[in-house]
Amino acid sequence: MSEFEPEESLLGGAGMPDSWSRLWAPHRMTYLSGENRPLPGNDIPCPFCRVPTLDDAEGLIVYRGISAYVVMNLYPYNAGHLLICAYRHVADLTDLTEVERSEIFELTSTAMKVLRKVSGAKGFNLGMNQGAISGAGVAEHIHQHVVPRWAGDANFMPIIGQTKVLPQLLTETRTALAAAWDSV
Ligand SMILES: [Zn+2]
Repeated sequence: MSEFEPEESLLGGAGMPDSWSRLWAPHRMTYLSGENRPLPGNDIPCPFCRVPTLDDAEGLIVYRGISAYVVMNLYPYNAGHLLICAYRHVADLTDLTEVERSEIFELTSTAMKVLRKVSGAKGFNLGMNQGAISGAGVAEHIHQHVVPRWAGDANFMPIIGQTKVLPQLLTETRTALAAAWDSV
């Protein structure tokens, strides 16, 4: 059975097999339902402004720079998914000062070195979603995604997505990345 087929215990359910592949990612549900994320109609404060007020372990902070910091994504696409965030609550790349822009890219570069050293990452997806229409979850506070990639990594996403496992993985990953940060 491939990971895309229903569990054997569910084969008595309703529906007909078709040619679509399905990727089950239950850990995304808390995110999509808006938990811990400022949206119109709720009064949740900006998480990227709040995180730097916490201690490193509680906030899952890997490194604090001068104008930007590095934090584990609470809702990772892959193990080791980091976010490089400006401290200032600004939305757009063009809102950043030259110092902030350059530090965000410097921290991105160091994050790649650290992820290669600690986890043997073979590739990366880097990027910023600009504006809610582009898919940004917290569109009001700029953040750069650093997603490490390994051959075949997409196949274990549903497995690492189990919510009981993820917080422990994040904590352990944060500790390893933070310890390696100054060595690259
Ligand atoms: Zn903010």
